[in-house]
Amino acid sequence: MFLLFGFKTAIRILGSRPGTCQYCHQYAQHRVEERATKLTVFFIPLLTVRRSYSLRCGNCGQATALTREQQNAILA
Ligand SMILES: [Zn+2]
Repeated sequence: MFLLFGFKTAIRILGSRPGTCQYCHQYAQHRVEERATKLTVFFIPLLTVRRSYSLRCGNCGQATALTREQQNAILA
């Protein structure tokens, strides 16, 4: 018998808000993204092992890392 383990990363868009980008200095829509890495067994996601948040510019695509508190404050 063998078990097939792996990891899968899923990106979910939690919301968006307009703002000025710190990279391209354009006023554009920014997406708040959640990146969740899950442990899989036979390609079935079982549990989340890592979760991170970022704010991505809709103009240039650059992302800034966010903490959970920052992400909650932006979407509140
Ligand atoms: Zn930008």
